[in-house]
Amino acid sequence: MSREHVDVLIVGAGISGIGAACRLQESCPGRSFAILEARGAIGGTWDLFRFPGIRSDSDMFTLCYPFRPWPGAQSIVDGQSILEYVRETAREHGIEQRIRFHHRVVAAEWSSADGGWTVEVERADTGETVHLTCGFLYTCTGYYRYDEGYTPEFPGVERFGGEVVHPQFWTDDIDHSGKRVVVIGSGATAVTLIPVLAQHADHVTMLQRSPSYIVSLPAVDPVARLLGRVLPTRLIYPIVRWKNIMGALALYGLSRRRPAAMRQLIRKGLERRLPPGYDIDTHFNPRYEPWDQRMCFVPDGDLFDAISAGRVSVVTDHIETFTETGLALASGAELEADMIVTATGLNMVPFGGIRLSVDGADVELPEAVAYQGMLLSDVPNMAFAIGYANQSWTLGADLTSQQVCRLLNHMDRFGYTQCTPRNGESGAARMGFGELTSGYVLRAIDQFPKQGSKDPWRREQHYVRNRRSLRRALLDDPALEFSRAAPTADAPAELAA
Ligand SMILES: Cc1cc2nc3c(=O)[nH]c(=O)nc-3n(C[C@H](O)[C@H](O)[C@H](O)COP(=O)(O)OP(=O)(O)OC[C@H]3O[C@@H](n4cnc5c(N)ncnc54)[C@H](O)[C@@H]3O)c2cc1C
Repeated sequence: MSREHVDVLIVGAGISGIGAACRLQESCPGRSFAILEARGAIGGTWDLFRFPGIRSDSDMFTLCYPFRPWPGAQSIVDGQSILEYVRETAREHGIEQRIRFHHRVVAAEWSSADGGWTVEVERADTGETVHLTCGFLYTCTGYYRYDEGYTPEFPGVERFGGEVVHPQFWTDDIDHSGKRVVVIGSGATAVTLIPVLAQHADHVTMLQRSPSYIVSLPAVDPVARLLGRVLPTRLIYPIVRWKNIMGALALYGLSRRRPAAMRQLIRKGLERRLPPGYDIDTHFNPRYEPWDQRMCFVPDGDLFDAISAGRVSVVTDHIETFTETGLALASGAELEADMIVTATGLNMVPFGGIRLSVDGADVELPEAVAYQGMLLSDVPNMAFAIGYANQSWTLGADLTSQQVCRLLNHMDRFGYTQCTPRNGESGAARMGFGELTSGYVLRAIDQFPKQGSKDPWRREQHYVRNRRSLRRALLDDPALEFSRAAPTADAPAELAA
């Protein structure tokens, strides 16, 4: 049976998938491609999350695509602006017509005999299962499940008379005005949501088991604002981008090398922002070292202002049980609430939950070793885009897309049809996300591939070094096995995208 075929199949139309398509179109103009997207919209994360105040917490000069500079000086922006940016990029680059919405990829089978992938797709719009074939599979599926967030088992939750909401499933009709709101959690989502809820709520309580590092960042980049008076965007952008890349790396490096100094620095910032005598030790002095878990950033200290104004309070305690009217805590205290928001995190999943197999054998992801943080040992013609945990995601995802294009052009040039990383470093450890020990990482890390201790079986959480090593990476690396498949008689029909 003749099936639709593309040279490259991108899975996911989030910020990574749209960027990948732009790169592919530009750098590999002869290759046909399509994007399969499970949902009905472009944007991934930035379309899914609708909770009040959703915004970036890394700066837009590094979260944007290098080929489409972020204009202006606003560095931390709302989710809608990011969504518009991704959509406009797709529109401007003519990518929209390449996307097949409501196409969830559930399985992909590689056949060495056919020299390609057969991809099984569930169509949410028609209920059909369809199959496509492709020469190269590129998953840009993010890192977490869209259909569920993480909520621990809270005793007594069914007794609570108010509303319980998970931020991943916030809808426009949820009304918090005038209510006593308790937000459970102290991660990026909680600190984003709380100051915005506090604008209309009666009062907001941030209930945390243990504190996180929370650092204030300027919402408007001061250097970009200054330069904006005299220079055009095209000149401001690279200056501010590189300032931010180097700044984030310096912050991360200092945190790893001199954690005590970084802890002190963060504390000084908190002392300046919070009311005199505030109990920093209980509420803002984490047990772990800076960057052992993802650091939280708040624009212009909005969370600290809301605390200082008395609209937000922080409680560090454990939940004993939900009650009819709120929460009973381990300390014996009770928190009254009309609404409880469970900002308790995400559930991670590798490669959008796609089942991979090679020549009839299932790929056991936890056994595979990642090559350069983008290919998998013993899996031919497949790449995956993941970004950084300690810097903007797009920096990493875009490096991967550039390298995928380089690899495809190399294969074209020498007539190769198959590229397979071989002999993944033995004794490799779990892949890790910037060595983060956050709960959501630890809960799922066993499902992810491993990575080795050195190049090419490791990608560090360091954009500048990765950029250098990927640019220098030899495509005739002995760890990459290239081969040419014999042409088949039953060549698949080209997909008219
Ligand atoms: C609330 C929140 C705030 C964040 N803020 C920042 C920030 O400020 N800076 C930063 O760098 N990062 C941030 N992140 C991380 C963020 O996820 C990345 O920045 C980035 O958006 C990831 O883009 P992506 O395209 O790789 O993945 P996603 O945005 O997750 O998009 C993946 C797409 O793939 C689709 N998909 C998945 N599986 C399949 C499948 N099997 N078949 C078909 N389609 C599939 C999904 O439907 C989705 O559209 C944030 C994350 C969250 C949840």
